[in-house]
Amino acid sequence: MIYDLLLKGARVVDPHNNMDKITDLAIKSGRIAQVKSEINPAQASKVFDLSGKIIMPGIIDPHVHLSSWIGGSAGYRMMAKVGVITAVDFAGPLEDIINSINVEGVGLNVAVLEAFRPGINLSSNNPSSEEIEKFIQQVLKNGAIGIKILGGHYPLTPEATDKIIEIANNRRAYIAFHVGTTNSKSDLNGFKEAIALARDKALHIAHINSYCRGLIGNPLDELKEVFSLLEEKDKIVSASYLSPINGTSGKCTGYKPESNVTNNCLRMGQYPPTEEGLYQAIKDGFARVSVNVNKENILLTGIKGAQYWREANTDLTVCFPVNLPQVQFLCATSKDQYGKFLVDALCTDGGGIPRNVTVEKGLLLVKLGAMSLVDFVIKSSLKPAQIFGMINKGHLGEGVDADITVLDLERGKAIMGINKGKIIMIEGLLLGERGRLLTTKEGEKEIKSRGIVYDLLDLRKSLLFRERVKRFYQKIN
Ligand SMILES: [Zn+2]
Repeated sequence: MIYDLLLKGARVVDPHNNMDKITDLAIKSGRIAQVKSEINPAQASKVFDLSGKIIMPGIIDPHVHLSSWIGGSAGYRMMAKVGVITAVDFAGPLEDIINSINVEGVGLNVAVLEAFRPGINLSSNNPSSEEIEKFIQQVLKNGAIGIKILGGHYPLTPEATDKIIEIANNRRAYIAFHVGTTNSKSDLNGFKEAIALARDKALHIAHINSYCRGLIGNPLDELKEVFSLLEEKDKIVSASYLSPINGTSGKCTGYKPESNVTNNCLRMGQYPPTEEGLYQAIKDGFARVSVNVNKENILLTGIKGAQYWREANTDLTVCFPVNLPQVQFLCATSKDQYGKFLVDALCTDGGGIPRNVTVEKGLLLVKLGAMSLVDFVIKSSLKPAQIFGMINKGHLGEGVDADITVLDLERGKAIMGINKGKIIMIEGLLLGERGRLLTTKEGEKEIKSRGIVYDLLDLRKSLLFRERVKRFYQKIN
């Protein structure tokens, strides 16, 4: 047989290659072999008729959580079911992902950023340059592709944050920031501080929508300020999510929630930032807790949720309805005068947190006419691929990874997932086995020795560290 798999008659949407037409697509040895009309089915071992469906490059979720610390390994299944092929864990610990990916990975690709956690993997909230340098070197060697500053939740000093951004840039370690320091919160002021700290350095600012909740002014005015700064600063990479709920830690110590984000959300709902306040918020239905049922996480609220949270010693993810609809919408759809998206990509901040809604909500925006299907593919696959330097993903040119998500636009869902030519999901049924870790050359030795299937990323090719005038980037503008 010439081909392993032939997908016939779908509308193939591949903005990178200027393709949006009904055609056949053939796969051989895990790569796209041919995209052209009327490929002979006798030449393929397996043939699917996908008339009326949409083929797009595999969905890449650029911000998820899969560790036992946040999210949980149930996230692999939850993502694969909704058409995700590749995801980036935005906090780690990497060790958790290494321990789960072979058993629970269901055929997904996963890269990991390791978070700075003062008091746990960092001596204090004001570490020295030497300590930061050592930390970054170690996490890359362990197999992570970079680091995350969890400022909004567990703030570091502005000086330490500044040093981290600088050192990560010098080392070409991927660097993402949930804004906030000991001087600011996870809000518009935190965002402005992050922009100021980055100066001319590259920085990924996580979930833009989270800083426009009306904590400083009117949410739409906040958004305007954020957009004008994003337009000005071309070395800032960003994403936003379309779920109405956020996700944060419900863990309390000394009768107070540990996370500043949790405390902010309680204040937004007129609850005191205490353990009792959070209990009441869950009981009233304002906060929801994420619990594992039948290998997936669901949200519980009311007295049942509150009891569950107490029984878990408060150590559960909690979600608040703080992502305003107009902010979700504008972050997803707004463009600058040249037609470039102000916020680069769609993410979910989901994985194990039950809000993996990129396809569900994104296709609603397509139906509404707020976003074209081409735009949806740019924001959910092509741009995330470019952001992380995944040059063989995000498009369907001959010879690249056969990572594909098949969409049913009418039903508003993903109906098939393919990773490197292997079908990992059909109609919600999971067929993949172990996952594949995406690491860098620096982490290769360690990951190999741990018996993990892996692919290498070259972060020098990441949009984060590229000159913005390069053709690879311009092509989609
Ligand atoms: Zn997150």
